[in-house]
Order: sequence, then C-alpha cells, then structure tokens
Amino acid sequence: KMTIAQSDPELWAAMEAEYARQEHHIELIASENYASPAVMEAQGSVLTNKYAEGYPGKRYYGGCEHVDVAEQLAIDRLKSLFGAEYANVQPHSGSQANAGVYMAMLQPGDTILGMSLAHGGHLTHGSSVNFSGKIYKGVAYGLDPETEAIDYAQVEALAKEHKPKMIVAGASAYALHIDFKRFREIADSVGAYLLVDMAHYSGLVAAGLYPSPIGIADFVTSTTHKTLRGPRGGVIMAKAEFEKPLNSMIFPGIQGGPLMHVIAAKAVAFKEAATPEFKVYQQQVLKNAQVMAETLVERGVRIVSGRTQSHLFLVDLRAKNITGKDAEAALGRAHITVNKNSIPNDPQKPFVTSGIRIGSPAMTTRGFKEAEAKMVANLIVDVLDAPNDEAVIARVAADVTRLCADFPVYGRK
Ligand code: PLP
Repeated sequence: KMTIAQSDPELWAAMEAEYARQEHHIELIASENYASPAVMEAQGSVLTNKYAEGYPGKRYYGGCEHVDVAEQLAIDRLKSLFGAEYANVQPHSGSQANAGVYMAMLQPGDTILGMSLAHGGHLTHGSSVNFSGKIYKGVAYGLDPETEAIDYAQVEALAKEHKPKMIVAGASAYALHIDFKRFREIADSVGAYLLVDMAHYSGLVAAGLYPSPIGIADFVTSTTHKTLRGPRGGVIMAKAEFEKPLNSMIFPGIQGGPLMHVIAAKAVAFKEAATPEFKVYQQQVLKNAQVMAETLVERGVRIVSGRTQSHLFLVDLRAKNITGKDAEAALGRAHITVNKNSIPNDPQKPFVTSGIRIGSPAMTTRGFKEAEAKMVANLIVDVLDAPNDEAVIARVAADVTRLCADFPVYGRK
C-alpha cells in the first residue's frame, strides 16, 4: 500500500507542484474550474476498475449492478437539471460528444455550419484542422464587425447558400447571450438539424442565468468540467426520438468502455449543480466577470463586444502595445494564469494574438467576490502597463500570494 510519494517521487513532485500552482496562483482560464473534493473522490475510486460496455441494464460484462446505479443516477440527474428528454453521460470529452452527434446524424461530406474558430467557435464546429472539418464540409459564420455580436443575418445567408445538414451554435470565447431561437428559425428554414454546444455556458444554464437551448435545439452537448464544475468529460442531451442513434453511436460507434469513475463524478457534480448554493455561485460568477470587465475598461483596454453577459470576455490588448503571447507570459510570472486568444480579425497569428481570454469561474469557486474581482483586474493592468518591470511583477505576485492565502481552494497545507 505505497503512496505515490513513496513509490514514484519523480511523478509526485510534479503533482505536488501542480497542486501548489492551482492553490497559489489566480486561475482565470475561462474553461477551467476547481472540482469539489466529492467529485475528485468519485474519480479516484474503485469504479475506475470496471468495464461496463453498453448502458444500464444492457451491458456486455458481468458485475455491472453497482455501476448501473451510478450511471442511472448521472442520467436522471442530468435530465432533471436541464429538463432534457434524453441524456447520454458516456462521452469521454466535449469533442467526443460532438463527434457522437455528427456521426449519428450526418454522412461524410455533409455540410456543418458553425462559428469560426477565429471569432470564438470551437475546433469541433467544422474547423479544417479538426475531424469535423475533414470528414464534413465546414462553413463558418462570425461576428458582425460593428457590434461584435454574432452576425445572424450572415448565419441565415450562409444557411440559404450552403444548405447545411447541421447548424452548430455555441462558442469557446463569446461573451454574450446566444439567440438560440433565432438559430432554430434559421435551421428550420433550410431543414437543418440544430446542435447547441453549451460547453462554456452549461453551469450558468443549469442555474437559470443564461438562456437554455433545451427544447429549442435537436441536440445539446456540453463538457462537464467548465462552469458546470464537474470532472473532465462530456454529455449529450436530445429529444427522445434521437435516443437510439445517439446511444449506438457513442457505444459501440466511437467509444469502448465508459469511464465509470468519471460517470460517478458526473453524478456528484449534477447533484451539486441542482442546489441553491450553486445558483448563488453562478450569480457571483456573472458579477465577478462584469466587475473585471468594467475595471479593465476604466484602465484603458477594450473588451470585445463591449461587455459580457457570461463568465468570460476577451480583452483587446492593442491599446497597451502588447501581444497576447507576451501578456500571458508576463501575467504568468506574476502568478496570474490566462490564455492568449485571437480577437476578431486579429492582425497577429493565432500563436501570438492581440488578446487574452479572461474567465471568472475558478476564482469565484475559491470565494472571490466583487472586491477581489476589482483587485484582480487592477493587478492585470498593472502588469500589462509594465510587462518588463520586474519590480512591478514581483509586487503583483506578492499581492496574488496574499489574496490566494486569504481564499484557499482545497486548503491543504
Ligand atoms: N465545445 C466547446 C464550445 C469547448 O469550448 C470545448 C472545450 O475546449 C469543447 C467543445 C471540447 O471539450 P474537450 O476539451 O473536453 O474535448
């Protein structure tokens, strides 16, 4: 019964260092969060040992009676959380969830109309470097250059021109509400299916703080580890009529044995997401994002689309004469973690960029409220104003250390 520390000190050192980084740095990556100890307990359990190909009550392995209970709990809780008719909790990731929907409903060569990666969409929405743009024909819509909101007139025009079989709404870097009803009308006008990938927004949707696509879209996919604050993984929800093709495409179509420890952790997370505390948490996520965006604007940077209605926003760094790549690195030295991100019509290459993406879910989980959100935004601009001044970096890092100590995440040592 050796611990990792005893049996594998080399690996343990990296794990401990990562623990310290998460505990002592301010995490602003919009797609990340801190899962609860209960979620992690499920993931570290003996359920990892079990093969359970198939679905509850219809397995290809013996001994599944207990994991059946776990998976059924996850399914029932997910359906109840969002009011869905059908749910599949087996996709290993958000990308697998999207692959499952496409492969169940489309033929190779069919057209997918999704949001451009460069304007905030996800790779799996038809990008040419992803399977979704290699197997299918990807056509991309983007933002209105004036408002930097989704250009619905363009979505409609492209739908009429290309007659897609699937329209995808959803994004990885879009701060505003998405008009799912408008997407539905456009999809209906050309006979397309509508998939909403709410990976980024699902925690807010669960709390009733972002428009729900359930009942509007044919298919809704999500990751479980972003605002929803569960284990890394994916889910699919749909109208009941699509149960058969979706279930058989996830297994045996594109996956083998489900990750029962992760499915158990999803069940834990869905129960947590149905509590009043979770709604209060998501309200604070929205407030913190708004306060950060407002403070940044006051200090001289532009927010893409001018404001946020969600947990995230993009910062246009051009007024500070710093690239996204350099900003990410300088903030990292000050123990603030962000990711560089292209802004719409970015003059820089995707590996350099003129923007950073900022999200409030993780810092809100550790207890930051408006006062801390304002402090964090001010610390960010202090660094952006003097990215090469090591005295400034050191002073900001010291402030970050103090803030993190006041708001421990897991509180170990
Ligand atoms: N869909 C959207 C909108 C995302 O932002 C992401 C995450 O990056 C995914 C899908 C893919 O999820 P995963 O990284 O679990 O494959």
